[in-house]
Amino acid sequence: MTENAEKEQSPSPQKLAGPAQDLKDMADLVSLCKRRGFVFPSSEVYGGINACWDYGPLGIELKRNVKERWWRAMIDREDIEGVDAAILMHPRVWEASGHVAGFVDPLVDCKKCKSRFRADKLDAAVLASKKCPECGGELTEPRQFNLMFKTHMGPLEDTASVVYLRPETAQGIYVNFLNVQQSARQKVPFGIAQIGKAFRNEITPGNFIFRTREFEQMEMQFFVKPGSDVEWFEKWKQTRIQWHLDNGIRKAKLRFHEHGPGELAHYAKAAFDIEYEFPFGWQELEGIHNRTDFDLGRHQQFSGKKLEYFDEEAKERFLPYIVETSAGCDRTLLVALVDAYRFDGDRTWLSLHPTLAPYKVAIYPLMKKPELREYTDKVYMDVKKRFRATTDEAGSIGKRYRRQDEIGTPFGVTIDYDTLSNHTVTVRHRDSMAQERVSSENLVRYIEEKFEKWNG
Ligand code: ATP
Repeated sequence: MTENAEKEQSPSPQKLAGPAQDLKDMADLVSLCKRRGFVFPSSEVYGGINACWDYGPLGIELKRNVKERWWRAMIDREDIEGVDAAILMHPRVWEASGHVAGFVDPLVDCKKCKSRFRADKLDAAVLASKKCPECGGELTEPRQFNLMFKTHMGPLEDTASVVYLRPETAQGIYVNFLNVQQSARQKVPFGIAQIGKAFRNEITPGNFIFRTREFEQMEMQFFVKPGSDVEWFEKWKQTRIQWHLDNGIRKAKLRFHEHGPGELAHYAKAAFDIEYEFPFGWQELEGIHNRTDFDLGRHQQFSGKKLEYFDEEAKERFLPYIVETSAGCDRTLLVALVDAYRFDGDRTWLSLHPTLAPYKVAIYPLMKKPELREYTDKVYMDVKKRFRATTDEAGSIGKRYRRQDEIGTPFGVTIDYDTLSNHTVTVRHRDSMAQERVSSENLVRYIEEKFEKWNG
């Protein structure tokens, strides 16, 4: 036994730790995210702007990790290529896609308290009663509200110059179908992946970063021969839910929701959502859609350009069907945070999967002493070459562990006086708080092995 962190003292001994509980109230997560630099309200010094959020130093790391995992899961396959299309597209794109005419939500207002609701999300009995669920005031008739943000290209604000901020990234993929297929010499079936911003003037944004007006999507459109679409749709459903499980999301919190005939979009032959159980209920995380040849057919019709694929072997031309997988990047990040959040009455920690955690390892000297600092720096520089790491010497060791727990750092490494004589360090595990003595020479390998096991 050394004088180091082996007996971990709670920084607040008056509080009693009980069994670990999940996140109950989104306000707790919003507060943690602000305090620790994951997510800040946008333009906060001006009082914020509704439903817009900024990612801070840890939030952007987490987001990059989410995107990197998604990108690698797609692009490491031989049959998927990437693109990064412009946000501003030719306005005819949105006529062809159906967004100008049909990307609308039915809006109802309360005449008394001015609350706004999406009629399709209100309880049928509430809608029929025409009474506001907030104050009992009278509700207006539903009005159709187009969700696309409009702007003008060039100096004159005439109708000829109207352009839209894209409400989805998918159209940038469809219009590039032949460019990608021919330049990358791909054969159907193959897919095109893209990560990028999308904008929707949502009627009822909210629940933190769940529904915002500016967000990022991670979309992959898979082009297949008609007739093989049902089989590919099933494959992508399984591949995508497995990806969320591999992010460490608990199985019991994920489920499929099949769109019934009333819910199916005009273009879709079949659609499943992957849903997650948030503190505010089961909600969509990702959509998997069999879009048939609707998109390529419409762009062919509106542009007057042939978008058919020529199958060299079968010597036949056809318009491919599209199986789409469409995930929200911000929503995936929110799920990672919500699912990882634990509180036991004393300690708060994020049980994040190591590949998502902003830092993988934190390295501390037990006390602020130059000889410990020197050793700590050596270990830190060594570990940093392999993992994203941080170091901290402010406050008691217990407090330092708690700070890292709250941001989901899987391992803490403490350098104490024994380290100087026998070259071993204490490794402390975030979730169990268990501690092990490990040779400093083998530290990197030790952490690598733990992560490999974590990944199953
Ligand atoms: P809803 O019906 O809830 O408005 P949707 O079915 O229109 O959503 P899609 O068009 O299928 O959503 O979008 C694909 C994914 O993009 C969603 O599963 C979600 O993760 C994400 N997404 C959509 N809208 C938003 C938003 N306003 N804020 C954050 N993410 C969003």
